[in-house]
Amino acid sequence: MQELTHYLNGEHVKGGSGRFADVFNPATGDVQAKVPLASADEVARAVEIAAAAQPAWGATNPQRRARVMMKFVDLLNRDMDKLAEALSREHGKTVPDAKGDVQRGLEVVEYCIGAPQLLKGEFTDSAGPGIDMYSMRQALGVTAGITPFNFPAMIPMWMFAPAIVCGNAFILKPSERDPSVPLMLAELLEEAGLPKGILQVVNGDKEAVDAILHHPVIQSVGFVGSTPIAEYIYGTGCAQGKRVQCFGGAKNHMIVMPDADMDQAADALVGAGYGAAGERCMAISVAVPVGDETADRLIDKLVPRIEKLKVGPYMAGNDVDYGPVVTAAAKANIERLVQSGVDQGAKLVVDGRDFSLQGYEDGFFVGPHLFDNVTKDMDIYKTEIFGPVLSTVRAQSYEEAIGLAMDHEYGNGTAIFTRDGDTARDFANRINIGMVGINVPIPVPLAYHTFGGWKKSVFGDLNQHGPDAFKFYTRTKTITSRWPSGIKEGGEFNFKAMD
Ligand code: NAD
Repeated sequence: MQELTHYLNGEHVKGGSGRFADVFNPATGDVQAKVPLASADEVARAVEIAAAAQPAWGATNPQRRARVMMKFVDLLNRDMDKLAEALSREHGKTVPDAKGDVQRGLEVVEYCIGAPQLLKGEFTDSAGPGIDMYSMRQALGVTAGITPFNFPAMIPMWMFAPAIVCGNAFILKPSERDPSVPLMLAELLEEAGLPKGILQVVNGDKEAVDAILHHPVIQSVGFVGSTPIAEYIYGTGCAQGKRVQCFGGAKNHMIVMPDADMDQAADALVGAGYGAAGERCMAISVAVPVGDETADRLIDKLVPRIEKLKVGPYMAGNDVDYGPVVTAAAKANIERLVQSGVDQGAKLVVDGRDFSLQGYEDGFFVGPHLFDNVTKDMDIYKTEIFGPVLSTVRAQSYEEAIGLAMDHEYGNGTAIFTRDGDTARDFANRINIGMVGINVPIPVPLAYHTFGGWKKSVFGDLNQHGPDAFKFYTRTKTITSRWPSGIKEGGEFNFKAMD
């Protein structure tokens, strides 16, 4: 049995707590590795190393730090196949999807190459007589991030690339479900020229997270995961005086107007609802056709497409549409919610409950499900299922449809499919959700924009990546300097406006 490690000071370090978690191959159900779960002492050791390394890195000029990112991009491309295979083996997603996971992280690394420009401060010449005023962005020091299982390459890179290029050290606590790729990324960054100790990977569970939250040297904590944990981390981290941003769960609605291209809408729903087995925070999990006639047409288009989906292990080739879910517990939770939908009166139009794959009976595969006639009070509507289950809620009008999305507690992403520009503009303007697609089902912004939801999908002020990341990972310092020839007038006691 493979025993995974932590990555400290440029070395793989065995776990010392005596606690381990199983890492599965979701396609076969086999335990393929053990991951160590760090104690508070092991977290403290990582912080100590990071704190010793950070000042020199923070003093390195931004262009040199950016060059490390440049080289890192090359190495990610060089090792893309290897990274994707390792990712699929632990997560279960298909290899092309795993490459997308790496690619979307890589694009943020590319954006970070612009650090010299992005970190430039502001300067006011002659703000007063003989007075110049300037502001600069300085690194925070030691920063940390806690990441979810569903994007084990992308989300760590969204955090550590901007943190590091801004001059911070970063402690990554990846998901204990799929920790191998984060360890590989740390090795690659070092190969790219990052000094030892600047990126540390500490594997673990709640004990390591709590140690991060309570460590006085750690200045900021980034978190991506489920909403209850996001809320806990935000509250605890802020109470400890840290800068915290947390991104939580989702229930993304896609509104289908009567004038939409129904084939396009159905294709979009199938990809966005079932891709990665629905284990995406930007998955569409609720379809909202407007009007019964639209709903009937949509369901007619969806059913054959869903029944044709090819579910299989990542090793079965690139025409597999989606793979297993991450653990047996995740599978059981999805099955429980599907049953609750049936019990609470939703119509199960495509029933994936008897799904089984020959040769992979112990894998965590879940067949695709489609519900119709879902209502607001049902658990399948209120809860994030995080599985291949699409719920259809029939709305009788556009107002009812937009109201549904607006009233839901989550506000990560949403989409509208229509041919009418007026409706689309109204939707984009009024909706209280962070990322909006117009005839685009998974509107994940590119690296140079920012990513973040609203409502219970986020806790904190700044979004991930793009310019917000450079704000989150730096502190502004503003200097007022005077070099006059006559500084002999005596003290100034009033709080004066500049002349
Ligand atoms: P999770 O909340 O179970 O775990 C996320 C991280 O928190 C992991 O590193 C885990 O070890 C840690 N953790 C788990 N329980 C903890 C506890 N009690 N105390 C402290 N730390 C704890 O989430 P997950 O299952 O890995 O990921 C799926 C969730 O992430 C979904 O809800 C999904 O919507 C969300 N997600 C959100 C975004 C976004 O940007 N909004 C992106 C990806 C995933």
